[in-house]
Amino acid sequence: MIGCDCSTCRSDDPRDRRLRPSLFIRTDDGWCLLVDAGPDLRTQALTHGIARVDAILFTHGHADHILGLDDVRRFNTLMKQPMALYGDETTLDEIRRTFSYVFNPHTPKGGGIPRLELFRIAGPFCLGALEVVPVPIWHGARPILGLRLGAFAYLTDCSGIPDSSWPLLDGVDVLVIGALRRQPHPTHFSLDQAMEAARRIGARRTYFTHMCHDLPHAATCDRLPPGMTLAYDGLRVRSEAR
Ligand SMILES: [Zn+2]
Ligand SMILES: [Zn+2]
Ligand SMILES: [Zn+2]
Repeated sequence: MIGCDCSTCRSDDPRDRRLRPSLFIRTDDGWCLLVDAGPDLRTQALTHGIARVDAILFTHGHADHILGLDDVRRFNTLMKQPMALYGDETTLDEIRRTFSYVFNPHTPKGGGIPRLELFRIAGPFCLGALEVVPVPIWHGARPILGLRLGAFAYLTDCSGIPDSSWPLLDGVDVLVIGALRRQPHPTHFSLDQAMEAARRIGARRTYFTHMCHDLPHAATCDRLPPGMTLAYDGLRVRSEAR
């Protein structure tokens, strides 16, 4: 956190250095996907040598999940195609509003504007052999999307799971779920709430994400039950596509 000298922010443990939450997914049939495009997208792509992205799936349109979209123009050049963006209607509207220069036909050309193609998520759909199942979740009073991909599920910025979404999480093997801090928060699960949801989902492995500096990596992980741990930047996980 900017201007903070707490022990997490001063930690030497690289796992306490956290950029904004995002996923890079490579499928067995070679698709490369991002989940969200936060303000650290450029740094993350450079750090992890990401040179190909076929599409971006959005959980929601908050700044920490979309503000890296301008840097997508580099992928336009590399891939020689517009970038396909998938999100719910609210998220696509937020992208159109936040990046109005991209969608304004009067914006002068030549300055390097990302080329974006927007697709509304209205239910499960396929990217290559991968089935993408949107999982509606609560982020405070606002409905956003979790994602189920085979035996993997990603529920960031979650503060509640509606009854109708639990069946969509049956049989998840690897779960990534948001856990902001120890204290309750109006729009994010606390660690205890995320653990409770994770227990009910029953994945073999659960990783917590979107932590703030209240949750130092090593000390927090020491107190977690088997099969649950904090995620960290650069963590790689393999999950089956079933
Ligand atoms: Zn701090
Ligand atoms: Zn959010
Ligand atoms: Zn967020």
